[in-house]
Amino acid sequence: CRDAAVPIESLDQLSKTSMPLCMRICHEHIRANHHIKHTGRMQYGLFLKGIGVTLEDSLRFWREEFTKKMDADKFTRSYEYNIYHNYGKKGSMVNYTPYSCAKIIKDVAGPGDCHGCPYKNMDQGSLKSKLSSYGLSASAIEEVMFFVSRGHYQIGCGKYFQLTHNSPVEPSINHPNNYFEESQMAMGN
Ligand code: SF4
Repeated sequence: CRDAAVPIESLDQLSKTSMPLCMRICHEHIRANHHIKHTGRMQYGLFLKGIGVTLEDSLRFWREEFTKKMDADKFTRSYEYNIYHNYGKKGSMVNYTPYSCAKIIKDVAGPGDCHGCPYKNMDQGSLKSKLSSYGLSASAIEEVMFFVSRGHYQIGCGKYFQLTHNSPVEPSINHPNNYFEESQMAMGN
């Protein structure tokens, strides 16, 4: 975990600069749909905890989004418990660990889901469009796709990091939270 708390007001910006694709897509999904299914909430919720979003801010973030589509009572009844749970404050009181790439890559996503590793789950055309919409040039996209099309999702993710951070080296990516830390360091934060 990072030492300083990350305010939820900074998440829109951080999603663009420092989140790997798997988390940026979840962030965009919740902003657009005001809802994420359970596995996506676990994947993104635990990631947020790992980057330093406090329990109070997490509750506020999910409540503000979900109550755009449901009343506050339903949110409290159906969703709050899981957020406390993720922070080890309810149930077995286990302080859950954010998911690694290996776990995320294994999670199968269906229609309407946003969880999983986009390098694995998206068809190549949609992935290329997504990378283009995130500002990558055609040649940069080909560099990423070289690895993705061979099933090397984490190397493709490292290539994306290198290209978007003007990094001299390509970091080896095995955890979304490490990706975030590396990004913040590369940006001098
Ligand atoms: Fe996320 Fe890891 Fe996939 Fe990168 S390789 S998008 S960090 S799951």
